[in-house]
Amino acid sequence: MGRRSDPLRHLEGELSALRREGLLREPAAAPRGEAGLLTLCSNDYLGYATEPWPVAPQLAPSGAGASRLVSGNHPAHEDAEAAVAAWLGVEAALLFSSGYAANLGALSALAGPGDVIVSDALNHASIIDGCRLSGAALRVVPHLDLGAVGEALMEARSARRRWVVTESYFSMDGDSPDLAALGCLCDTHDAGLVVDEAHALGVFGPGGRGLCAEASVKPDVLIGAAGKALGLHGAFVAGSRLLRTWLWNRARSFVFSTGVSPALALAIRGRVRRAVEDEGARARLRWAEAQLREGLTALGVRGAERGRGPVIPWVLGSAEATVAMSRRLRERGVLVQAIRPPTVPEGTSRLRITAHARLGRDDIERALTAFRSSV
Ligand code: PMP
Repeated sequence: MGRRSDPLRHLEGELSALRREGLLREPAAAPRGEAGLLTLCSNDYLGYATEPWPVAPQLAPSGAGASRLVSGNHPAHEDAEAAVAAWLGVEAALLFSSGYAANLGALSALAGPGDVIVSDALNHASIIDGCRLSGAALRVVPHLDLGAVGEALMEARSARRRWVVTESYFSMDGDSPDLAALGCLCDTHDAGLVVDEAHALGVFGPGGRGLCAEASVKPDVLIGAAGKALGLHGAFVAGSRLLRTWLWNRARSFVFSTGVSPALALAIRGRVRRAVEDEGARARLRWAEAQLREGLTALGVRGAERGRGPVIPWVLGSAEATVAMSRRLRERGVLVQAIRPPTVPEGTSRLRITAHARLGRDDIERALTAFRSSV
């Protein structure tokens, strides 16, 4: 019998097509592996991720050894969850292995067939996938369009249950919904409010508690990620004790997955405590954002002056133009990856420039010089 031909042979052609369209993604050299490269595209907003591991390894076991439901539950997990809950002013929290797993697990455990989920058009892929997995009917509304949310909820009045899901700080656009108004709409229409604060925790609000705290909104479900401002990895879902118990039983990405490393849990607890107090890092971040925004506005980057927070999108349109610009910046010592579809909608490829708290005057000058000479 002859050897069957390679069942993966079609991938070569598919990858070539992506390359032709300027959409092929290849691993960037590890930013710090390339000497002297200034990174302006991470989510390490407070500058913690570049520091070494924050807890002595001997203080906690390296692995959970099993799912938390089996033999993998460890006091370090519960301590981290208590620290997160105290930080966010909620009853309880539950750790997940990533923000992706948290969104997938929470949305699919809460919503189901017969429900309607109203989802912002620019929500993160993990939210979209969680919505799809839930089996609920999905109503995608235009970005930040409160009127459309209200209409969708009205139309869903006879659904079994209604949910509204949004990010609080959209990581590709650096903008935010009116959370207070969304909260009111959810109250009016008896809908659950699910808010992904992955890019807002540590960065905004009193003690870095995020944009819901800033707007005095209490979402029913709050998702946070430890891989952004906390500079680690992993994630949590925060809310009521009832929510935690439900997710412990029904969130499949939690139930059927190894518990996060107790060492990571300890580190998360430490970074949460640090972030609450770290007004210094938030002030340095605000300074760096302002410097970059001012410089980019002078260069004619539309909207840079109007935005808020560490994310400054520079929309160039075509994937090719964005990749070329990213390459020129890199040649000048600045790493800003090109963001292309499917991460952002077709025709809106962009440089996503992010500030962080470790940027000094020299870094800003170097970045702006590179931007100036790359346009
Ligand atoms: N939610 C949002 C809004 C995100 O931007 C991301 C990561 N880019 C995630 C969730 C997923 O988080 P993680 O990287 O921990 O999987």
